Amino acid sequence: MRLFTTTAGIRCYLKQHRQGLEVGLVPTMGALHAGHLSLIKQAKTQNKIVIVSIFVNPLQFAPTEDFQQYPRQLEQDRQLCEKVGVDAIVAPTAAEMGIISTTDSELTQVVPPPSMTSVLCGRSRIGHFQGVATIVTKLLNLIQPERAYFGEKDAQQLAIIQRLVEDLKLPVQIVPCPIVRESFGLAYSSRNQYLTPEQKEQAQVLYRGLAKAKNLFSLGERDRTPLINIVKQEISTVPAFQVEYLELVEPRTLIPLEQVAETGLLAIAAKIDSTRLIDNIILRNRQPIVAIDGPAGAGKSTVTRVVAQQLGLLYLDTGAMYRAVTWLVLQSGIALDDESAIAELVSQCQIKFVENQQNESSPQILINDYDVTQAIRSMEVTAQVSAIAALHSVRTELVRQQQNIGKKGGIVAEGRDIGTNVFPDAELKIFLTASVQERARRRLLELQKQGQENVTLEQLENLIQERDMSDSNRTFAPLRKAIDAVEIQTDNLSIVEVTNQIISLYKQQLTTNNHK
Ligand code: AMP
Repeated sequence: MRLFTTTAGIRCYLKQHRQGLEVGLVPTMGALHAGHLSLIKQAKTQNKIVIVSIFVNPLQFAPTEDFQQYPRQLEQDRQLCEKVGVDAIVAPTAAEMGIISTTDSELTQVVPPPSMTSVLCGRSRIGHFQGVATIVTKLLNLIQPERAYFGEKDAQQLAIIQRLVEDLKLPVQIVPCPIVRESFGLAYSSRNQYLTPEQKEQAQVLYRGLAKAKNLFSLGERDRTPLINIVKQEISTVPAFQVEYLELVEPRTLIPLEQVAETGLLAIAAKIDSTRLIDNIILRNRQPIVAIDGPAGAGKSTVTRVVAQQLGLLYLDTGAMYRAVTWLVLQSGIALDDESAIAELVSQCQIKFVENQQNESSPQILINDYDVTQAIRSMEVTAQVSAIAALHSVRTELVRQQQNIGKKGGIVAEGRDIGTNVFPDAELKIFLTASVQERARRRLLELQKQGQENVTLEQLENLIQERDMSDSNRTFAPLRKAIDAVEIQTDNLSIVEVTNQIISLYKQQLTTNNHK
């Protein structure tokens, strides 16, 4: 692992090592803990090169805040990063980041929408999010990562950065990562170092309050006042806490909500002594999402179809979406190597799944309102679909459409990157796998059933091995197990046994979610 303190050093490192490989950036202020490590682990599942930046950004601290006191422990951070397989740390000085003064009039800064910076933490931390947006823009320009990882712990920061990337058309995917908590519920934070053991124990009350609101929400409560009051009541049991704000907002726009229609963010900031802590919880009014990933030939599509049918959820057939787009490209007469024309066409198309009157378990698929359920199974489409699906622009657009379809939940989806990339917040993630030998044996049986006898088990094993290698090593959306996925090894299991396992995991998940 390398450590750079200058922008020249990290630029040169990337120039040498990038060579078309995807880069993930995890921006931090150091004093790394389990929360940061989960971002790094997530980044490692999706990128070949992982860079961690460590920079205590003077622009985001007000003069009255803890800039001087903020924990700085570079050597300890370096060792931790090395242990979890980070490729390089960049820990620049303020001057290296172009911050020679913290006076607004002497710096180019990035100003997020005031509607997003004047609420929640922005009310007391004047200028904080402008400082965050400025430094994140600088880091994104410096590293130019494919993906950057941010914790949901700082939900307002996350929303502002997502908006910044959208508005400034920055070519990076922002990946939100769930809050990591200590076993007793307190969210990890570098500032927890300021707490005495007794205060740490008292600080559990924040999560206890939020969890009570989540429970109330799961029982059907959607209105702001009761959801906020139940948290307030819980926190009042620890008089040492002074609540700075307790708000219910829409998680992406941060607009205050009177009622949760789809999703609400219940966020709190409170002080214990002079330590200010923040925490939040997402309230999702949606049916769960089940994400099933795994290597080719592990039985994903059959299992997914059956699970969706038995749970009464939509089977989101992502393979059919890639087929529909391939059909559209072939129809349009665009040359298959003209990616920019394909990008134009695909970014304007719309794919829908509608209920099939004849066959409930297999919905019809429409592209631009044209029913292509049959047409996408043609030989011509089959021959071209993997080339079209490998195009970056096609995958980006289809992931966007899949996420849109998933907004209200209630789906079971399968693929190679559903749990890691498309629905990282899926309620249940399954990684379905089987040994190469077993997958080859199943494929051989299938081929024999179709009357194809001219292939050997050994040939199939080789083919499957090669396919696994290329699926795991391709630069875009490689096959990876999500860190929170449940692995099911299907070698000695029947389809019924596998689906039963998934259904029982789903039911367990529903009950734990409702009672957390
Ligand atoms: P910081 O070093 O506090 O600026 O945090 C760096 C990144 O780690 C930010 O994206 C934070 O949201 C994220 N982070 C900090 N604490 C946690 C946590 N407990 N769980 C998940 N992410 C976290």
